[in-house]
Amino acid sequence: MSEFSLIQRYFTRPTPGAVLGVGDDAALVRVGSGMELAISTDMLVSGTHFFPDADPFMLGHKALAVNISDMAAMGAMPRWATLAIALPAEDEAWLEGFSAGFFALADEYHVELVGGDTTQGPLNLSVTIMGEVPQGQALRRDGAQVGDEIWVSGRLGDAALALAHMQGKLLLDDASFISVAANLHRPAPRVALGMALRGMAHSAIDISDGLLADLGHILQRSKVAAVIQLDKLPVSAYLQPYLAHALGRQCVLAGGDDYELCFTAPASRHAEIEKLSAQLGLPLNCIGKIVAGTGCSVHAADGSEITIRETGYDHFA
Ligand code: ADP
Ligand code: MG
Repeated sequence: MSEFSLIQRYFTRPTPGAVLGVGDDAALVRVGSGMELAISTDMLVSGTHFFPDADPFMLGHKALAVNISDMAAMGAMPRWATLAIALPAEDEAWLEGFSAGFFALADEYHVELVGGDTTQGPLNLSVTIMGEVPQGQALRRDGAQVGDEIWVSGRLGDAALALAHMQGKLLLDDASFISVAANLHRPAPRVALGMALRGMAHSAIDISDGLLADLGHILQRSKVAAVIQLDKLPVSAYLQPYLAHALGRQCVLAGGDDYELCFTAPASRHAEIEKLSAQLGLPLNCIGKIVAGTGCSVHAADGSEITIRETGYDHFA
């Protein structure tokens, strides 16, 4: 199959939300009046972000999910994506699975694939996503203020727990593993939450490298510090028994790949955020507060400070 019939077959779908989609030198999109374009790129590299034999459907889902999650973290509505893909060989079964996983999630979030690039090489998946957000309303990392409460969505650490099991660092029973692995393989980007937080949250980020690392980005950009309560961190029943061990704490504080949102909001919004949680059917937990200074301290239930060494994943550390 030629490069062009491959693109035609696996990556060309109708794009009614774009002026021009796949097939020309560039795609054309029109942003609504009063809207800003939010743009983000995330790359998944074989051996770094996934095992080379990873299920292609899952990879298609994940390559797009991690990008949609960035739109969620900005409070943007995801609209269009481009896909740059390097493939070691033309493998139709793989392409079939990958594109099915990609488009299943794209359909769910009304994202249109409007272009990309296809080349031969070591497996590498790079998605650029574009979304719309009303002017001035994006949720940024630099808006946290002293006195803000710090919140996280969903449960933290299950993806890292699944990975720890796959790496033989602990042993989960089959049913538990299947449940926590769903978080690793099929993260659900929190777009509705991000959009609902416009005008409510002062800052937001999606947790891709671990809570401490990603909250750390908010603290740095906002020039503030944080105090978080270990016992307030939302964890699943699967992770709970491991919290007494360093490995469990590491999963919840430094485990990436959950793609939940961490955001800060004034305390006056507390009740509204709890109401939003009920509306969305999504746990939103207040885990601490923003204070003056630098860095993040983690406190135990008795108020004592816990020393944490692991801060998250850094590709070059
Ligand atoms: P060019 O030579 O101008 O870079 P290409 O031959 O690379 O164009 O691509 C032809 C068309 O197919 C373009 O519209 C491009 O955006 C699109 N395209 C290429 N690869 C992909 C892909 N993996 N997914 C979606 N669209 C793609
Ligand atoms: Mg090209």
